[in-house]
Amino acid sequence: MVRVRFAPSPTGPLHIGGVRTALYNYLFARKHNGTFILRIEDTDQTRYVEGAEEYIFESLDWCGIKVDEGVREGGPYGPYRQSDRKNIYRQYAEFLINKGHAYYAFDTPEELEMLRKKYESQKKTFLYNAEVRNELKNSLSLPEQQWKEMINSGIPYVIRYRMPVNEEISFDDLIRGHITVNSSTLDDKVLFKSDGMPTYHLANIVDDHLMKITHVIRGEEWLPSLPLHVMLYRSFEWEAPLFAHLPLILKPDGKGKLSKRDGDKMGFPVFPLYWPYGETARGYREDGYYPEAFVNMLALLGWNPGTEQEIFSMEELIKEFSLERIHKAGSRFDPVKARWFNHVWLQKRSNNQLAHEFSEIIKGKGYSCDIARLETLVGLIKERVDFVKDMWDEAYFFFSPPESYDSDALRKKWNEESPLLLAEVSNLLRKIEDFTPVNLEKNVREWIEKKGCNSGTIMHALRIAVVGKLKGPGIFDIISWLGKDETLNRIEKALATIVQQS
Ligand code: GLU
Repeated sequence: MVRVRFAPSPTGPLHIGGVRTALYNYLFARKHNGTFILRIEDTDQTRYVEGAEEYIFESLDWCGIKVDEGVREGGPYGPYRQSDRKNIYRQYAEFLINKGHAYYAFDTPEELEMLRKKYESQKKTFLYNAEVRNELKNSLSLPEQQWKEMINSGIPYVIRYRMPVNEEISFDDLIRGHITVNSSTLDDKVLFKSDGMPTYHLANIVDDHLMKITHVIRGEEWLPSLPLHVMLYRSFEWEAPLFAHLPLILKPDGKGKLSKRDGDKMGFPVFPLYWPYGETARGYREDGYYPEAFVNMLALLGWNPGTEQEIFSMEELIKEFSLERIHKAGSRFDPVKARWFNHVWLQKRSNNQLAHEFSEIIKGKGYSCDIARLETLVGLIKERVDFVKDMWDEAYFFFSPPESYDSDALRKKWNEESPLLLAEVSNLLRKIEDFTPVNLEKNVREWIEKKGCNSGTIMHALRIAVVGKLKGPGIFDIISWLGKDETLNRIEKALATIVQQS
């Protein structure tokens, strides 16, 4: 039975890399009819940020990633917030001490800092490990009676893992393959802090064990911690879950990890949602992305289906997803491609949905329009945009006649024949009852043919008169939408204004 977890720390807005980790866990769980757990890892109280936990929930909700067990959902292995599990961890740290795998250490932060500085001045790195631990203040170096007295008299201490000397730590990662590390290169990590809280390492292992996690799927930045985690499983005599470390998401130029600050620098969001606290940051949702597009893009940042297919719904992702097809190498984030995904997902929406979305923008501009007419309109322009918010630029001229006429267009496409032809076409349009694009086009083309005039001249003149410039969808679609009265008014106004202008 597959049980996976997403275990974010609420230290600020969730980076898109974190959302991808959640997504891959979710896809894997769903694919195997397993359970997706959301565990909040908030043992580092100095890094706790107000609002961050809510932000995580809201981000997952927005993406359509449904949690089976978690802080809000509850479940048989709760609580799912580590600060609410505070009382669980000490016994495990003490178990390790009793087994000789851990020890109490009394060195103050100041003493350790001095040692670090001393080592640095000799161009060495200070590691709290087997080589030095006997010279430091801990329950391995001090006489038993002394360290017990220190504990009883309330002197602050931490509990450190006693990393064995020269042991081969071998393990497999589902993405990275086989890895071997010598234990002598590792230090004695703190498992339990003087504030009575476990560190990430201890809480993470204990919780993964108690929550019966089968696969740990997480970011590559946790790979260096894996040897310690493997050692902890050994020391507890617990069976370790399987591990899969996901590749980094890289900057668009491929040079280094996509950082929290890159979004502002490079002009695209690196967070799913707008972050409203302190240093605010933009989000995909507020930038106008559809969650389907965002999820689709994230899924392909580090995984490929082994086919040419690029557009996937959540259901399709669940069907196709496999850990085997996750890349080892980092994935370059491509902001242009991100927009493209939204473009494609926008085309998949019904005109009715788009009309309702666009209707909000129209209202904001001070216009109103019934949904049926908006449906036709969005059908004409949707191919030209990546986002609904960009529709206005493609559609403003449907709502108000041109205030001026583009001088470039006039210079290039308006000639002495234009006014007369336009006046004649206006008379023709006046007589047409069936104002559908097809019928309009048929009548105008027949008229051009009969008259033997230059079709370019009249079409450009018509567009300049109605739109104000040489842009927009098909001219017959535009005038059909505007209707006879509006079209004739615009032509009349153009004729009066442009003749005056020239
Ligand atoms: N709390 C860790 C984080 O913030 C979780 C790492 C893990 O999944 O083990 O990413």
